Amino acid sequence: MDIMTPAERSQRMSLIRSKDTKPELFVRKLTHNMGFRFRRHDSDLPGHPDMVFKSRQKVIFINGCFWHLHRRCSNSRPPKSKLQYWQPKLEGNAKRDKIVRRKLQRLGWQQLVIWECQLGDREKLASKIKKFLGHKDIA
Ligand SMILES: [Zn+2]
Repeated sequence: MDIMTPAERSQRMSLIRSKDTKPELFVRKLTHNMGFRFRRHDSDLPGHPDMVFKSRQKVIFINGCFWHLHRRCSNSRPPKSKLQYWQPKLEGNAKRDKIVRRKLQRLGWQQLVIWECQLGDREKLASKIKKFLGHKDIA
């Protein structure tokens, strides 16, 4: 069991947040350790999903809360002074995400979005991934 105090958790979260490649690395490692195999950034697919599970026709996106405008998430609030600058940019990102998701859906891909702020609870995240992907790979 992986039990963390809130302080440890927030420390881990800030570690995760310190580099923008970290959340992806974290999820990739976790998923790999769970026995799932996948490809990274398949350029044939709309939006170049972070993780591609081809045989299952499933993809996972790992989104930074700020850049992808995680609604109702405290990590996603742009600085008030720069709101006019950020708001259209971030809304644009969110709009693009939506279009990508619709395209993938039309092509028959199931999708899971993992938000940066969900990485603190490893157990919860693992069960979410498991639920999404289903049975383990046999190989
Ligand atoms: Zn968030």
